[in-house]
Amino acid sequence: MAARVASRAVCGAALRFALFHFNKSSQISSRRWLNLQEYQSKQLMQDCGVTVQRFFVADTANSALEAAKKLKAKEIVLKAQILAGGRGKGVFDSGLKGGVHLTKDPVIVGELANQMLGFSLTTKQTPTEGVKVKKVMVAEALDISRETYFAILMDRACNGPVMVGSPQGGVDIEEVAASTPELIFKEVIDIFEGVTDVQAVRMAANLGFKGHLQKQAADQIKKLYDLFLKVDATQVEVNPFGETPEGQVVCFDAKINFDDNAEFRQKEIFAMDDTSEGDPLETEAAKYDLKYIGMDGNIACFVNGAGLAMATCDIIDLHGGKPANFLDLGGGVKESQVYQAFKLLTADPKVEAILINIFGGIVNCAIIANGITKACRELGMTVPLVVRLEGTNVQEAKRILQESGLPIMSASNLDDAAKKAVACVAKK
Ligand code: GDP
Ligand code: MN
Repeated sequence: MAARVASRAVCGAALRFALFHFNKSSQISSRRWLNLQEYQSKQLMQDCGVTVQRFFVADTANSALEAAKKLKAKEIVLKAQILAGGRGKGVFDSGLKGGVHLTKDPVIVGELANQMLGFSLTTKQTPTEGVKVKKVMVAEALDISRETYFAILMDRACNGPVMVGSPQGGVDIEEVAASTPELIFKEVIDIFEGVTDVQAVRMAANLGFKGHLQKQAADQIKKLYDLFLKVDATQVEVNPFGETPEGQVVCFDAKINFDDNAEFRQKEIFAMDDTSEGDPLETEAAKYDLKYIGMDGNIACFVNGAGLAMATCDIIDLHGGKPANFLDLGGGVKESQVYQAFKLLTADPKVEAILINIFGGIVNCAIIANGITKACRELGMTVPLVVRLEGTNVQEAKRILQESGLPIMSASNLDDAAKKAVACVAKK
C-alpha cells in the first residue's frame, strides 16, 4: 500500500506495528487522524504545563530574523515545520542540508530561513519530491545531555492507552524496536485510573532519569497523559524527550494525532487542520465523506467497505494488474456521492480502467447504478468500466446499466471483474 504522504502519523503506525504486531489491515483503516504541526502541538503541551522551549513561528525570513532577536537566547534552533519526521537529516531543494539548525547568530537564522521557506524538504518520511515548507519554528536552543523516547498511544490490543518509552531516543524508534527490543518499555494504562505515580516513576526510571530528574520526568509524563485525554489524542509522541545539563526535562519535539470521532468536542483543534500537505485527492474525497487511498497502478477500484477494498486490490494483483487507488463509498450512499467518486477517480491521469465492486447490503445497488450512468454521461468518461454489483436490488441495477446504452462491462463475480479490468489495461 503506498499512501503517498508518509507522515509522522504513519511513523507512529509503524511503531505500533513493530511493538504490537497490529493486523496489517488496521493500518489502512478508513480513519483519517488529524495531524498538527510541531508548533501547534507544542502550544497545546505548553497549555498543559509540559516543558517546551520558548518559541516563535515565522513564515518569512525577515520575521524569522526578528523572532531570533526577540528570543534573546544564547543559542537558537531553527526548525522547518512539516508533518513528516526525520527533518534533522532531511535535505532541501535549495541545497540546504538539515531541517533543524542550531546557531548563536540571529542573522544566520534569517539566512537559513531564507533557504527553507518556499523550498521542499525531503526526509525519510516524505515522498521523494519532498514537502514544501511554509513555516519555520524559531526556538531557544538548549543543550541536550541525553535523548530518550516517550509516547502515549491508543492500543487496540490493550483496549486503551499505553505508554511506550526507551532510553534510546532521538533516533529512529522503529530501529530500536527491531534491533534492541529490550530497550523498549511499555506501561498499560487503566483508563479509569489514569497513570499512577508508581507507573510514572517506573517509566521515568526505565528511561534512565535519575534523582530529581526522575521526579521531573514522572511529572512531565503525567502531564502528557492529562493532555492526551484532554485533546482526545490517539498518540502523543515526544522524540527526543531529553534532559539538559542544567537539570531540566524538556520535550524537544512533539507529534500529536487526534481521534477524528472527537471532532465534535475538539472544534478548536480541528480548526487548526492544515490539509495542504495531504494528497489533494484524499482531501477532496473527505469533503464528500468518501475514503480515497492513492496507489501506484492503473486500475481504479470503486468499492464499498475497507474489507472489500482490500479483497479487490488483492484479486487485481492476483490477475497481474495493479490498483491505481481505491475509493470506499462506505454505507449510506447517495447518488451525488457516486458522481463525486467518479470525478475523483478519473481526475487521476494514471487511471486506465475502473473496476466497480459493490456489495449491496445496506447500499441499494439501483442507487449506485443510477449514479454510474449519470456520472458516465455528464463526465464524458472514456476509460473502460467494469462493474460487478451484488446484493440488494441488483436486478433493477443491472437493468438500469443495460438500458443505459453505455459501454459498461458487466462482470458475474469478483474474479471475472478483476480479469476483465486487467484485460482492458493489458490491451493498451
Ligand atoms: P526530527 O528530526 O523531525 O525528529 O526533529 P527533532 O525536533 O527531533 O530534531 C532533530 C534533532 O535535532 C533532535 O533529535 C536533537 O538531537 C536536535 N535538536 C533539536 N532541538 C534541539 C535543541 O534545542 N538543542 C540541541 N542541542 N539539539 C536539538
Ligand atoms: Mn524528533
